[in-house]
Amino acid sequence: MKLLTILGATGSIGQSTLDIVARHRDRYALYALTANNNLDRMIELCRQFEPRYAVMRDAQSARLLSDQIADLATEVLAGEPGLVEVAAAIEVDIVVAAIVGAVGLLPTLAAIRAGKRILLANKESLVMAGALFMDEVRQHEAELLPVDSEHNAIFQCLPPGAIGRDVTEQGVFKIILTGSGGPFRDIDPAELGDVTPEQACAHPNWDMGPKISVDSATMMNKGLEMIEACWLFAVDQSAVEILLHRQSIVHSMVSYLDGSVIAQMGNPDMRTPIANALAWPERINSGVEPLNLLQVGQLDFTLADESRYPCLALAREAWRRGGTCMAVLNAANEIAVEHFLNRNIGFIEIPKVINRVMEQISTGPADDLDTIFQADAEARRLAQQLVRIGV
Ligand code: NAD
Ligand code: MG
Repeated sequence: MKLLTILGATGSIGQSTLDIVARHRDRYALYALTANNNLDRMIELCRQFEPRYAVMRDAQSARLLSDQIADLATEVLAGEPGLVEVAAAIEVDIVVAAIVGAVGLLPTLAAIRAGKRILLANKESLVMAGALFMDEVRQHEAELLPVDSEHNAIFQCLPPGAIGRDVTEQGVFKIILTGSGGPFRDIDPAELGDVTPEQACAHPNWDMGPKISVDSATMMNKGLEMIEACWLFAVDQSAVEILLHRQSIVHSMVSYLDGSVIAQMGNPDMRTPIANALAWPERINSGVEPLNLLQVGQLDFTLADESRYPCLALAREAWRRGGTCMAVLNAANEIAVEHFLNRNIGFIEIPKVINRVMEQISTGPADDLDTIFQADAEARRLAQQLVRIGV
């Protein structure tokens, strides 16, 4: 029996993880569930799974939850100290890092420092602090397993022990990252100025939280994933090729020196990579329908046009500059996306805000957490200011 902590249990990844846990109660039990402030959903989840701990972001939501589940044995904690505690607790075997954004960094690092198996969905934490993050994984012998579907696919296509080791030294020629192109892949770029948050969040193939849905529409998601792949598999961006693949059936590929290309396929459902990482190296039923290739019929691959997706070039630039520039890219993107979702800026302003922030902030080595958080805070301040005065 493995004990799990799910950071971000009320979100899309949290929900998919709990769906698998519910199918395998003989294998997995819950140590802790955490949420931002979705009280109703947490009450439901605590009743269904009876975790030992539940963590809410603020003290008031924690008090309300505690009152509502007073009849359960679940103990309620609050805030970042609560998150860190349940991520690092000695009893915990597996931590699912599924909080969205930079706020996920500290609890994820706590799990790494405690040497846990970490199922990483929270790509922002790896993007902003990659070098330090991977050093800590090595130092504490944590078992980092990617849940992002592309990186889980690549992981499945690589020889064992590939995480954190330069895979080009293991016969790999290229990593081929696939992306659907998002909901606006076919619309006239001139119309992008008028698209709404609802349209941006209506992804053709995947059902995800709002932030990553917008990232998929701008393809900043693929840019963040390019950086994520560079850190996870210890390669430069020149070894990562991005291809548009509208069907989202091939989740990514690895091209080897001998001419072999290995792809991982499946229906677009996050329960597959989550189940893979939960049970690895075993295989368990995830509840995902078997892939019917006859029904899919056709698999298309095309180049991603960077003029349609300026965020891709921004992510490449951030990787080239290195150090704190990736925290700056990520923070500016988080702020711009939040303002787009709140209708304060238009869709095409998102890359403009990020670009201006990257131009105006001087970046340097990202040797320690303080430096990274300072860069993150400075980028957030400047992005907020640019949104206020207009870009
Ligand atoms: P979501 O918005 O559906 O859920 C986010 C979760 O984080 C929620 O449980 C929320 O309560 C929690 N949270 C948000 N802000 C918080 C805060 N300040 N403090 C504590 N908790 C907070 O997002 P999601 O789609 O599940 O994505 C989660 C992460 O997984 C993201 O980093 C995303 O990029 C990554 N990811 C998601 C998918 C997907 O299919 N949804 C696929 C690949 C990677
Ligand atoms: Mg992905």
